[in-house]
Amino acid sequence: MTPEQFDLNLGRELKTVGVTLASENNGNLAEAQAVALQLAVDHGRVTADDVYQRYVLDQGNSWLGNAAGSLFRSSLFEWTGELVASRRPSRHANYIRVWRLKPNGCREMKNVNRNTRAPREGREIICPKCHSVQRVHHFSWSALTCTKCKAVVDKNDWVALDIGRN
Ligand SMILES: [Zn+2]
Repeated sequence: MTPEQFDLNLGRELKTVGVTLASENNGNLAEAQAVALQLAVDHGRVTADDVYQRYVLDQGNSWLGNAAGSLFRSSLFEWTGELVASRRPSRHANYIRVWRLKPNGCREMKNVNRNTRAPREGREIICPKCHSVQRVHHFSWSALTCTKCKAVVDKNDWVALDIGRN
């Protein structure tokens, strides 16, 4: 959250790189959505700036370009009604929306069961012990070690999410 990280020239550079790469590889959207989900789980609210901070500045990924418009286009997120000025210089302090998980989003969060399947791009599951979001590409396992808290969690104790990718 240090101001230096929102350097104008760096912002412009990252934006250019992000747009270029996004047109070559839109697969980053799913990863960025998982980051958005984790931030929402951890903090209750999330903005595109928060995702940018974590996904681009902290993790070193490139930004999404036009695909960023789909970041919160998910049946799990809803607009809080709040707007905040973007901290990204390239956005010229434009207002961006503050999002949260839908209160009834839980209907799309349920424990993994024997019928749970993963789409080709993978599916997010939440560790019941530390609430970290992880992605799996199949459910042919009976227990999985959480990559964050290292707990061995039985299949039926993981919570599966449908984050509504298009
Ligand atoms: Zn865990």
